[in-house]
Amino acid sequence: MNAGFIGLGIMGAPMAANLLKAGFPLAVYNRTPSRCGPLQALGAVACETPAEVARRSDVVVTIVSETRDVEAVLFGPDGAAEGLRPGSVVIDMSTISPAATVEFAARLRAQGVDMLDAPVSGGESGAIEGRLSIMAGGPREAFDRCLPLFEAMGRKIVHTGGNGNGQRTKLVNQVVGSLNLLAVVEGVRMARAAGLDPNVTLEAVGGGAAGSWMWSNLGPKIFAGDFAPGFSIRLHQKDLRLAKESLEELGLDAPGTALLHRLFTEALDRGLGEQGNQGLFNLWS
Ligand code: NAP
Repeated sequence: MNAGFIGLGIMGAPMAANLLKAGFPLAVYNRTPSRCGPLQALGAVACETPAEVARRSDVVVTIVSETRDVEAVLFGPDGAAEGLRPGSVVIDMSTISPAATVEFAARLRAQGVDMLDAPVSGGESGAIEGRLSIMAGGPREAFDRCLPLFEAMGRKIVHTGGNGNGQRTKLVNQVVGSLNLLAVVEGVRMARAAGLDPNVTLEAVGGGAAGSWMWSNLGPKIFAGDFAPGFSIRLHQKDLRLAKESLEELGLDAPGTALLHRLFTEALDRGLGEQGNQGLFNLWS
C-alpha cells in the first residue's frame, strides 16, 4: 500500500516517520518544504504539492492545523483532490469541525474516494512513540483497510461510527482533557504557594485518584518552567472553540468548557499562543 502524508508539524513528522519505519512507501508534502528533509533521510519521497502526493498514493494522511487548512490541502489549488484516484482513501488526522468533515467526506465520495476522520490524542510523545489514541469515523470497510497504517501510529484504535464521529469523539476528549489541564495548573500553583517539594508532590498525587496523563506529562513541565510547545495554546484554543460550538449545537450548558475557552482566548490575547498548553499556568505567573 503506497501511503502519502501531508503536514509534517509537531505531530505529523513523527507519525510519518513511524509509517516509514513500518515499511510503507511514503510520499510527503509540507507547506514549508525544509521540514521534508528528515523524512527524506528516512526514505520518503518529497513532493511539491498535495496533488502530487495523492497521485503517488493509495491512502493519503493529512494532519494540518485547522478546518480551513484541511480544506486547502484537499480542495485548494494543487490540492490532493486533483490527484486522488477512485478507490483511494483520505485519512484526516487533524482536529477540525465535525460538520465540515462530513461535507469534505461527501465531496470526496463524489469522486469515488472514501474519507476517514481520525483525530488523535496522546501528544507529541505519543506521536513519537507510536502510542496515539486514534478515534476514527467513516466507512467501516475503509477503516479495516487502513488498520495497518493506524497500527503503525497508534496503540488504541477505535472505529467510532460514520464520518464526523471521529471529530465528535475527539471534542469529548478535549473537554475532558482541558478541564483536567486546568486542574493540574491550579494544583501546581497551590503546591508552589504551599512550598511543597515538586517531585514528592508529583509522585504522591500521581499515584492516587487524581493521577492523569496531564498530571504526569505536563505537571513536571510546569514545575520546571518548561513551556515549549508539544501542543500549542493556539491550537488548543481552536479545539475549545470547536467544543464550545458543538456543545451549543447540542443545547448543553457547559460551564467548564466555557471557562476554559475564555482562559485560552485570554492566553492567546496575551501573546502566549506559541507556548505549549501547559503555558496556561502563565496567566497567573
Ligand atoms: P503544528 O506543529 O503547528 O503543525 C501544523 C502543520 O500543518 C505544519 O506542517 C504546517 O505547515 C501545516 N499547515 C498548516 N496550515 C496549512 C495550510 N494552510 N496548508 C498546508 N499546510 C498547512 O501542529 P501540530 O501540533 O502538529 O497539530 C496538527 C493537528 O493535530 C492540529 O489539528 C492539532 O489540533 C492536532 N493535534 C495536535 C496534538 C499535539 O499534541 N500537538 C495532539 C493531538 C492533535 P508549515 O510547516 O508550513 O507551517
